[in-house]
Amino acid sequence: MTRYSLAKYTGSRSVIDVNGVLVGKKRVVIAGPCSVESKEQIIFLANKLKELGVDMLRGGAFKPRTYPGTFEGYKRKALLWLKQASKLSGLPVVTEVMSPCDVELVASYADVLQVGARNMQNYPLLDALGRISKPVLLKRGLCAHLKEFLGAAERILAGGNNNVILCLRGVRTFDNSMRFTPDMYAIPWLKKHSSLPVIFDPSHAGGLTEYIKPLSLMALAGGCDGLIVEVHEDPPRALSDKDQQLSVDEFSHLMKSIK
Ligand code: PEP
Ligand code: MN
Repeated sequence: MTRYSLAKYTGSRSVIDVNGVLVGKKRVVIAGPCSVESKEQIIFLANKLKELGVDMLRGGAFKPRTYPGTFEGYKRKALLWLKQASKLSGLPVVTEVMSPCDVELVASYADVLQVGARNMQNYPLLDALGRISKPVLLKRGLCAHLKEFLGAAERILAGGNNNVILCLRGVRTFDNSMRFTPDMYAIPWLKKHSSLPVIFDPSHAGGLTEYIKPLSLMALAGGCDGLIVEVHEDPPRALSDKDQQLSVDEFSHLMKSIK
């Protein structure tokens, strides 16, 4: 039997306070590169994105990659660069943590710890995140049922950390026209069964820049609490996910469409 005792929607919505950015109260936009590639890059992007009205900066330091031998992130160095970019721009930072052993390290630099789709059911990681108080951005697993997704969220809540933001990023279905099948249908279901804020990631769902705007508008029309979008200063040269990262100019157009 499924239980949603902790994540359950009780009539009042959870609001997650990320250094004054109230996720769940107002719609938020999180943006930044797939991977943090240099100190100069992340500082440049942080300042540009701040100017464009972004609420938080994203950027991967620890990257889960499908094949070994590909770029796996600058790890500790990238965390330091993110922190510097955050201080200079005033934007809180969201970055992924892949292992329970790194939770303490990542929490000492980041404002929000991201659990990637591939780790949604990494229970030692979820348990370790339940023991801290920093907000967690939990991505839906590639093939996870929504009940399993809430089960994973509940595991963090059960540990005592109430600050969980759910993130949809597309799922794997029979249809492979896009990188993943956008799962907007999940927004009203999650809103019915949980009080947690729900944001949408059009970049990993669509997989190509041309889909980012329509998917973003659909998700916002569907009632999501915000977006997390990949933006790179020179997308063709990105070290990961180059086909789906918007340039700063393209992102600026997206921000205008959203408003
Ligand atoms: C990411 O955010 O860069 C990422 C790897 O996302 P996902 O876990 O959704 O694939
Ligand atoms: Mn990516």
